[in-house]
Parts: sequence; structure tokens; C-alpha cells
Amino acid sequence: MAEAGSFADKVKQQADIVRVVGEYVRLKKSGQNFTGLCPFHAEKSPSFAVHPTKQIYHCFGCGVGGDVFKFVMEMEKCAFPEAIRIVAEKCGIAVPRQKERSPEERKENHQRSVLVEMHREAQTFFVKQLEGTLEGKAARAYLEDRGLDKDAISQFGIGYAPSGGDALLRHLKSKYNEKLLVESGLVSRDQSAGRLFDRFRRRITFPISNESGKIVAFGARALGDDMPKYLNSPETPVYSKSNVLYHMDRAKDALRRQDFAILVEGYMDAIAVARAGISNVVASCGTSLAEPQIKLLGRFTKRVIVNYDPDTAGQSATERSLALLLEHDFEVRVLALPPIGNKKADPDLFIRERGKEEYLKLLKDAPPYVDYLIVRARQMDLTTGEGKLRAVNFLMPYVQRIPNRILRSEWATRIAQQLRVDEPVLRAALSKAATERRSEVRTQPELVGRAAKPVERRLIRMLAEAEGFRVELAKQLQNARLYQGLETEKIFVALVIASLSGQPVQATEVGAVLEDRDRRLLFEILFEEANEPTWEEAMSCIEALQHRHAERELADVQRSIEANPAAPELRGLLEKKQELMRRLAAAR
Ligand SMILES: [Zn+2]
Repeated sequence: MAEAGSFADKVKQQADIVRVVGEYVRLKKSGQNFTGLCPFHAEKSPSFAVHPTKQIYHCFGCGVGGDVFKFVMEMEKCAFPEAIRIVAEKCGIAVPRQKERSPEERKENHQRSVLVEMHREAQTFFVKQLEGTLEGKAARAYLEDRGLDKDAISQFGIGYAPSGGDALLRHLKSKYNEKLLVESGLVSRDQSAGRLFDRFRRRITFPISNESGKIVAFGARALGDDMPKYLNSPETPVYSKSNVLYHMDRAKDALRRQDFAILVEGYMDAIAVARAGISNVVASCGTSLAEPQIKLLGRFTKRVIVNYDPDTAGQSATERSLALLLEHDFEVRVLALPPIGNKKADPDLFIRERGKEEYLKLLKDAPPYVDYLIVRARQMDLTTGEGKLRAVNFLMPYVQRIPNRILRSEWATRIAQQLRVDEPVLRAALSKAATERRSEVRTQPELVGRAAKPVERRLIRMLAEAEGFRVELAKQLQNARLYQGLETEKIFVALVIASLSGQPVQATEVGAVLEDRDRRLLFEILFEEANEPTWEEAMSCIEALQHRHAERELADVQRSIEANPAAPELRGLLEKKQELMRRLAAAR
């Protein structure tokens, strides 16, 4: 990936992986390596290692590994160019200014950064209004009533948009022209008179940040009875509702560590859940999840607990989101909170009334989505055949989205039992759904590390780092094709090619051409504690391979002999057998 002479290459040469990884993981020196708790899977004893000279990392637990860029890409869930920039910045390497393609693009980039700046100023303004005005005082009382104290207010940047109608406009007018003000979505234009006024008036404001933490929009809740109760920023050049998940910027780390997300509807819910100490929560900030939001979330985890409002809108939002999540191969559970008294409970209300322990308990026991759906189906009228058909039709599309065929058929049976479906027609429909799947899942490459024989491990290590003789070793191995048929064959081929190229062997570049399971094995071998290799040792390893090679050949010959070949062929085989046995005896 890092081409010689490129900026990426320069950064890679200068960057210190131990220092960069050390900003995310507490590392301890251990032998020639550094080890720590893996940031990519939950563990109690460290199996994550960083190699200071090879500049690679590897986890013996979950098998992840790569170079400094790969690490940053995985941690920050960013693309390669962004990872280069981040590593360069962490290591104090000056980043060349990006060339913009056209004046048009430059203008757009500029406009976007101005809009972001405007949101930052609006945020400061709203916060000041909440803190220092009479109106703000009333808003604070309301927030306190909702269980949001000073800490929460500052933690989530909650502010207040005053009722005047042009307070923010007056604040921003001197710095920004009308066109930009309208484009920001913070200011609206009166259709008839063409007059400008604040979009948010007499509302509590919640800053909405994009995934890198820049405020790009606001959500606002009416303080009084103004309609609508919730009003958000419109779509702007910096904000698209379907691309942003509220709280994503703060949830990243927890999502990665816990490997599941709690999905709620609104920012008040997300705040309540996060305040309860559950940071891996995000809000869709709309009635239903959009595909780009699912993709964004999928970069961090593929497991979701959907905890939408229990009202009708929330239920259908849950069901729509379910369908989409399942299509993207998410593992989905649904938390439907029980009512409090006769009030339907959203996460915010529930945590306020029942406390976070109770919420955590329900979260832990949240059922798989199919259970939730069966409960929903059972609420339908099941007394008639028609009603049952409706219920089955409601469930069918979800059953078909279950990736695993056995599970699909299990669920079909369960649905039949739960809905008391005895009609042959419905049963047939269900079992048909169970055998078909909408989109077949890709099979994951097997990730289990294999135990290569010690001789192979040793030779691989030498090919990777015995500067004194690895070229000669590569030649010998290649001439005799001694690695053919070995489990480690592909690793050998890649290393031999790299060694014969005359360039230093880069572990990550060799790893990049390998399948994941081979890459994992290679990294494991590179991290083993080992003595300085010698040519003599290399030769004895080669002999061992030759020996194994001869043994395999002998076994082949023996099989051919036992297959009763014609006389001339048999003679040849017997000669070959003699010769192999002589060779094997001599080696002993
Ligand atoms: Zn790991």
C-alpha cells in the first residue's frame, strides 16, 4: 500500500508503531516485543503484541494484525489516506496540503468549512443563552425536571434557542452573508416577505455531530407547547440526516470494545442511556434507520439491540429497521420496555423512573428479533384463518432474512406452534420460507490459526529476516520446491518471491498478498521469541524438509505399487522405491 517514495512510505519509515499504538493501548515491554490488552476483542490477559523492529502488530487471540496504517484504520474506522494523515500528525510529520481538483471543489470545501464554523459559533451562542439568560433559566428548570443536571448539560453541549426570533441571526449577521446563513439551516427565510429569522425559537438545542465530532446540525425540542415538539436542522451541504447517527462520535470506542450497539430513536433517549453508563448507544434521530446509517454502524459492530419507542410509530420504525438490519447481516435483538403504570416507556422515561440497573437487566435479556416479532404477530387476531394468514405473512419476510438455514427452519416450526397454525397451506408456506433465503450470506474465510511444523516455522522466520543468507535460502527452497504441498506453501511462495526480489522483506507487504488465515500464521511466527538464525540451522531445516518430501514420495510410490500396475511401470516404481529408501536411510 505504501509505495516507495510516496508520502505514505515516508510516514511509514518515520512513524513508530509502538508510540502510535501506545496512544490507544497500554503497552508493556515483554522480551523484544510490546504486549497489551487487545483493543479489538475483550480479554483479561494480554494477547496483543507490537513488534518494534518489524513495525507490525498481531493479536494471538482474535488474529488481527498489520502495520501502523492498518491499526489506525481499524481503530478510527477510517480510509487509508485518512490513516496516513492521522499517523503523520501523531508523529509530527508535516502533511503536504491536499491538491484540490477544481476551483469548484475548492469553493465547496471552503463553504463546508465555513458552515461547520458557523455551527460551532451557534453552539457557543446557544450554550450562553442557557447559562446566562432569564429564558435560559426556565429551560434549565425543565432540563433538571427531566433528570439532566449541570454535568449532563455540559457533557452533551445542551443549549437554548431564545424566543425572540432573530437573536442568533443578529449574532451571526455581521460575519456571514445571507446566502450562507440560509444554507446553514440555522436561519430560515420568510416566503412572503423574504425576511430572515431563526429556525430554532424557544427550544432546547442538542448539537448533532458527525462521526469525527464536528457539529453539523442541531436537534431542538420545544420548551412549551409549540409544534412540532422536535425540530431538526434541514439537509445542508454539511448535514444529511441519513448519514449521521447521534452520539456516534462518542460511542465509537465503546462500540468497538463491546461489539454491540444500542439503537434508540431520539437524542433524549441516547443521552439517558449514555448517562446510565452505557456509552455504546446511538440514535437514528428520525423515525427509521436509513441505509447509510446502517453502513456507518456496520463499520463498528454487526450486533444491535433496537430499543425504539413502544408507540405505534416506534413499532413500525422498529420493524422497518429490523428488515434493513437483517438485510445487512446484523445480529438483532429487540428491547421492548414494559409500560410504567399506564404510560408507554421510552428509554429516557424508563431509566428516570426505574433506574439504570433495571434497564441494564432488561437490556441483557433482550430477546432475538424473531421472538419480538412473534409477540407482535400474536397480538393480531388469530381466531380466523384469514387473521392467521395475515400474521404469517407479517412474519415471513423476516424468516427469509435469517442467514442460517437450520435456524430458519427452527423458527418456522416455532411460529407454527406459537400461532397455532395447523392449516397445511400455511405450513407449506412457512416451510417454503424456511428453505429459501432472500440473499445468501457470503461464507467467511476460516480464521482458525493452524500449527505449522517447527521446521516450517523456522524456515519462514529465516526467509523473513535472515539478511545474511535469505536470498540463498530462497533459491534452494525454490529449486527443490520443497514447500510444495505443505500447509504453509502459500506463505513460502510469497516469502520466496519477496526474498528473490532483492528488496528487504516487509512483513506487511507479504501479509497483504496472503489470505487472512495465512497472514495470521505468518505474523504469529514473526512474533515468536527466537535465537539468531544460522546457515547451518537453515541447512538442517532443509534436510528435514527433504526428508519429509521423500517420505511423502515414498508413500505415493507405495500406493502406486499396490494399485497393481503393468510390469514395466512396476519395475520403474520398485526402483524408485529402493532409491527413496536408500535416501531416507542415509539421512538417519
Ligand atoms: Zn484481539
